[in-house]
This record gives sequence, structure tokens and C-alpha cells, in this order.
Amino acid sequence: MIKAPYYHTIGKEVEVFEHAYGSKIPFLLKGPTGTGKSRFIEYMAHELDKRLITISCHEETSSTDLIGRYIIKGAETVWMDGPLTIAVKEGAIIYLDEIAEARPDVIVAIHSLTDHRRELFIDKLGETVKAHEDFMLVASFNPGYQRGFKELKPSTRQRFVAVSFDYPEAQIEQEILVSETDIDKGTAKKLVNIATKIRNLTELGLTETVSTRLLVDAAKLIHSGLPKRLSVGVAVVEPLTDDTEVVEALKDLCDLMI
Ligand code: ADP
Repeated sequence: MIKAPYYHTIGKEVEVFEHAYGSKIPFLLKGPTGTGKSRFIEYMAHELDKRLITISCHEETSSTDLIGRYIIKGAETVWMDGPLTIAVKEGAIIYLDEIAEARPDVIVAIHSLTDHRRELFIDKLGETVKAHEDFMLVASFNPGYQRGFKELKPSTRQRFVAVSFDYPEAQIEQEILVSETDIDKGTAKKLVNIATKIRNLTELGLTETVSTRLLVDAAKLIHSGLPKRLSVGVAVVEPLTDDTEVVEALKDLCDLMI
């Protein structure tokens, strides 16, 4: 039996997901990067014993990438189902990570899957496929990151139940660091204090602030023997910004705190 992915529950997300799955309602995870959205879906797929197919959407992701295409095999052209079609037929959970990044035709393609029809139209084959009983569509969206440009339209958002993910409370974040990396509690606490401090420095105008993922990376480096200050500098501060003055200021701050 494959070991369950480690996921520390934050609120009612597990319960909500189970009910959404049972009621066949698509699920939207909202929140900044590195707050456990992907980990949560891996955990839920394991709990429900379902295959998980993850697509990291980017600006070139099209409906063809998801639905499928003809490919040339020797002298023949053969149809190949894309990941969405596979999930629809097999009854897997499909996770469209950062859905707002994808091309608009992706949103159009999933519409009929996100309402009572639960079917996928494969335009290139002129076929409609009814979704398997167990199929579920899950998407994530980062409201802050897409500020101003890539929004998710209300007509799309309202097809999902949505749960917000954010940086966990200090105590929980410490536990996550210890569980993920085996780092000692004292160091985990210091890392979380650093994150809390930087998250409160809103005047820095960072596009995204310190995520749990960055703290996990710093903790892993420290646990593997890299000096603490260097670990925090490269795993927490440098990824946040390229502004050299801000980097220096944040490194000074972190050096005092670790
Ligand atoms: P997202 O999908 O929101 O960008 P991830 O799920 O990849 O973020 O989370 C980044 C990392 O943070 C994970 O690999 C894991 O180490 C850690 N993490 C964040 N939140 C949790 C949580 N609630 N339980 C366990 N690990 C978490």
C-alpha cells in the first residue's frame, strides 16, 4: 500500500472536499502559491483511492492539450486522448493547477463538465463523452498573483465550490516543518517567526511573500547541514525579490532572527 501523502488539515477542507466529491460538484482551491493546495489534492486523491492527474496550466495550455490530438504514427494518423479525456473516461480526479493561466478555450472546454451534463465534447472527433461516475474536476487559482490581468470570470467561478488556502497559523506551520523535514522544533519556530515578520512587511510591495514551501526548503537545507543563515538567505530571501536593497535588508533581518 502506498503511504498517504502528509497533509496537515487547516480547517474544514477535507470534509468539504468529501461532500463535493460525493455530490459531484467541481472544487476550486484559491490562494497564494506554496500554501499546500497541491499537497491537499494529493492527500484527498489518496484518501478516496482515486487516480490523480495534474496539469500545470500556463499561457500556452490549450483545450487540445487537455482533450487530445491526432498524432502521426508511421504512415497512419491516430487519435490520442489527452489527460482530461482520460480522466473523464477512467473516473480520475483531474487537477488543473493555476487554471486562470490557461488559454480561454480551456475554460470553454470544461463548461459542460462543470454542470449537470458532466460531459466532454471532443470537437475533433465530433463525439461527446459522458463522465465516469467517479470523475472529479479540481482547479486552483491564485487571486493575488493574477492581480489585474488574469481573472477567473464569475460565470466560471460559480461552477465550483471554493475553499481558500492561506499561510497556516504559526503552530501548525511549525508542525508542518518538523514533519516534512525532521528539523528541530526550536529552528522550526525561528523559521516561522521569520516568515511571520516578512509577511507583515507589506510596505515592501512583494508580489508574493514567504510561503510554507520556502520555509520547507530552508528547513531541508538546514537539516542537511547547510549553515542556517545561508539556508534562509538562499531559500527564503533570494526567491522573493531581485531588488538588491530589499534582499540585503531582509538578509540582515533574518540573520538576527535565526
Ligand atoms: P501550492 O500547490 O499551494 O503551491 P504545495 O501544495 O506544493 O503548494 O505546498 C508546498 C509545500 O508546502 C508542500 O510540498 C509541503 O511541504 C508544504 N505544505 C504546505 N501546506 C501544507 C499542509 N497543510 N500540510 C503539509 N504540508 C504542507
